[in-house]
Amino acid sequence: MARDKKRIVVLGGGFAGVQCTKKLEELFKNDSEIEIVIVSEDNFLLFTPMLPQVASGMIETRHIVMPIRTITKKSIFYEGRVKNIDPYGKIVNLWGSGNKRGISLHYDFLVVALGSETNFFGMSDLEKNAYQMKTLNDAVMVRNRIIDMLEQAENETNPILKQSLLRFVVVGGGFAGIETAGEIMDLLLDVRKYYPNISRDDIKVIVLEALPNILPGFSDELAKFAQEKLTEHGIDIRLQTAVTSFDGDEVMTKRLDGDKNDESMVDSIQSKTVIWTAGVTPVNTIKRSLFKTDKGKIVVDRFLEVKDFPEVFAIGDCASFYDPKTNRPFAPTAQLAEAQAKVAAKNLYSIIRNKEKTEFVYESRGQMAIIGKRTGIASFLGMNIHGIVAWFLWRNVYLSKIPTWDKRFRVFLDWAADAIFDRDISRLKFMRREPEKEYKVLDEVDDVW
Ligand SMILES: Cc1cc2nc3c(=O)[nH]c(=O)nc-3n(C[C@H](O)[C@H](O)[C@H](O)COP(=O)(O)OP(=O)(O)OC[C@H]3O[C@@H](n4cnc5c(N)ncnc54)[C@H](O)[C@@H]3O)c2cc1C
Repeated sequence: MARDKKRIVVLGGGFAGVQCTKKLEELFKNDSEIEIVIVSEDNFLLFTPMLPQVASGMIETRHIVMPIRTITKKSIFYEGRVKNIDPYGKIVNLWGSGNKRGISLHYDFLVVALGSETNFFGMSDLEKNAYQMKTLNDAVMVRNRIIDMLEQAENETNPILKQSLLRFVVVGGGFAGIETAGEIMDLLLDVRKYYPNISRDDIKVIVLEALPNILPGFSDELAKFAQEKLTEHGIDIRLQTAVTSFDGDEVMTKRLDGDKNDESMVDSIQSKTVIWTAGVTPVNTIKRSLFKTDKGKIVVDRFLEVKDFPEVFAIGDCASFYDPKTNRPFAPTAQLAEAQAKVAAKNLYSIIRNKEKTEFVYESRGQMAIIGKRTGIASFLGMNIHGIVAWFLWRNVYLSKIPTWDKRFRVFLDWAADAIFDRDISRLKFMRREPEKEYKVLDEVDDVW
């Protein structure tokens, strides 16, 4: 089928994909020769920095997701899961399932922004038994689990079982892990008054981190401050400690700062809830793709173009881009994803309009994290800030980053309500652990749209 328009297809509706589509819409304005298509599995953008606050019930579930159609109004949106990409035929195939037809989309230019998923480093028992903090469903499940544990512990007469019900282990001392631990502790302390048989001493939140410090990426001073504040808040932080297994009742750990053969380095924690935040890896669609990858991520050049396929760009968590200063990959962040998205869109524009391409140069504008009630840390405009000022800054910066006004307003109201009222302890049982999705291919797709 002959097409007179040039089609740009963006894969992924996360920070990178949505930002790139917005920038393309802005650059091409009403150019009728260009068609922009965005494809994503979910029809919303998930605002991950606020995911731990959904897990603690501070923010309502739907307030941190924004429908993609309301943000990228000039593009065509397909809700679908990418099955594979054929960069030689310039075709993207989407899975068909039950009552959904498989679709093949032809592209002239492609932007791959399929993000990442939780990395369990091959530990299948953890993958089966641990909770995660990556999707909206994960956050709701963690909240439900905490309330469930409180309900069970309240009437539990066996003290050992009660202890294990009230121990929450967070694996990973990065952004996601530390913010999750802080939020869980806040939730537990806030709602404890409804559970008269549970004392403050019964509650334990433990963070396990394999590195010698938490929050890599922040200065030593800020990481130390965060560690002290979290410890004061009652969170037990165990550094240089790796998890070796979790069967649903017991977490086995190993200290990494001594003799490997010394048996005293091995320990166990009786706990029924482990939340795994210790790393991400690109999704399988990327790992199985025909693109050259490095540790699963697509290798790109300084213009963010994919090696051997100059009409394809890769951005965000699924792209491998090295920091020339450290010669190590940049940490996967929303800030990096959005910066790459803008440059990829500009370079696509330059290719189509025969202009000079722009090199991707990244300078982080700072980092911030919330580490518990009214406390945060931030490295911002060259300054290191901590305490309530950093917490206030976090709230302002992240509120302003929510792409739509209605969701900004709703989150603001949630925060205001949280300052006045108690957290809700109702457990909604309709949200279950998401089963492995099985997509059934209906029949071979014979037409290309
Ligand atoms: C709890 C938590 C807190 C965080 N806090 C911060 C923070 O404070 N600051 C910060 O900068 N970063 C933070 N991050 C990291 C940040 O979320 C990621 O770096 C960022 O989301 C990467 O953007 P992306 O677009 O590359 O990927 P994603 O946001 O993961 O988007 C990928 C998109 O692709 C879709 N997709 C995946 N596979 C398929 C498929 N096969 N077919 C169709 N669609 C598919 C997904 O549904 C998703 O919409 C946090 C992450 C987490 C989990």
